[in-house]
Amino acid sequence: MSQSLPPGATIGIVGGGQLGRMLAMAAARLGYRTAILEPDRACPAAQVANLHIVADYEDSRGLEQLANACDVITYEFENVPVTTARSLADRNTVYPPAEALEAAQDRLSEKIFFNTMGLATAPFTTVENGRDLAEGLARFGGNGILKTRRMGYDGKGQKIFRGATAQDVQEAAAEMGGVPLILEGLIPFEREISVIAARGLDGALAAYDPAENMHRNGILARSRVPAAVSAATAEAAREAAFAVLTALDYVGVVGIEFFVLDNGSILVNEMAPRVHNSGHWTEAACAVSQFEQHIRAITGLPLGDTGRHSDCVMENLLGPEQDRAPELLGEPGVVLHLYGKTEARLGRKMGHFTRLFPLSGRKQPVTGSGR
Ligand code: AMP
Repeated sequence: MSQSLPPGATIGIVGGGQLGRMLAMAAARLGYRTAILEPDRACPAAQVANLHIVADYEDSRGLEQLANACDVITYEFENVPVTTARSLADRNTVYPPAEALEAAQDRLSEKIFFNTMGLATAPFTTVENGRDLAEGLARFGGNGILKTRRMGYDGKGQKIFRGATAQDVQEAAAEMGGVPLILEGLIPFEREISVIAARGLDGALAAYDPAENMHRNGILARSRVPAAVSAATAEAAREAAFAVLTALDYVGVVGIEFFVLDNGSILVNEMAPRVHNSGHWTEAACAVSQFEQHIRAITGLPLGDTGRHSDCVMENLLGPEQDRAPELLGEPGVVLHLYGKTEARLGRKMGHFTRLFPLSGRKQPVTGSGR
């Protein structure tokens, strides 16, 4: 694809959650149509897309239908089977590349990828049995965080050890056995930040200001921008994101999470090869949201301005918290977004809102040529 896709072209999205919904809305604003591949008939994205292919992510007929209906294909969650991405890529253009999915899906290959690039992470070791776990914990001073290597999100499949006893280790090994695991040293971070960055088809790079993220029960609760970090720390995080995008020959938006230590240095935690919850504030505080940025990148349009016109705090609305909507809408400076989910299960992401504040100090967006 050497030119940008014309208005009226169709973008395929694998996955029908809220990220797919917001991508479809951004696509529509730029004159594009969208087709969603998602088994759940009641999914949020189907309510705003032009076509909903109701099929599993590995269903060969569904994949063929998607490949035939679209001019370019993307995905909205990182656990899309790599075989799905490759099978679509055999028939159509798929961004971001399947290699990015592959690197991000396994915490072990992800950390090795970062370290190979010279980006520091928490120390880690693979765990196959109770002995590995005991040895790893001894190496990390008795403290660590045990994670499933694959399919973990929002803190699921994780166990924290602080001063672990032999019995803790035995119990954990029995509980979490059967799936590949990784043990990480417990990082005494001062704060957590993330960078939402993009690479265009022409190799251009752009990043939004880092957000400072607060989690509750492993789920993102709140993102604040600007983050309380030095300009040097923010720059290091942006540079790390740009290096990752370039190394992967990436096209689209990526979300990369970092731990910030008390001396201001950063460790990479993980990356999501997609738009990211900690970038939802961009739809309220920037001229071009992360969703539009992703659509621009994958359709070959120029990347947009990542500058911020306001400081802001984004908060997720989980489960029954969506009942706060009328009250929030009565507040000046609040931008609300609900995902159209009817079942408000406890802990389920139902929407988010962003409170805007006057800009405390103008920060320029960072862009580069990517060469
Ligand atoms: P993750 O699924 O890897 O993003 O982990 C979820 C949350 O657990 C992170 O946002 C951190 O708050 C915490 N966490 C993850 N890994 C570590 C670590 N190695 N040390 C300390 N806290 C961690």
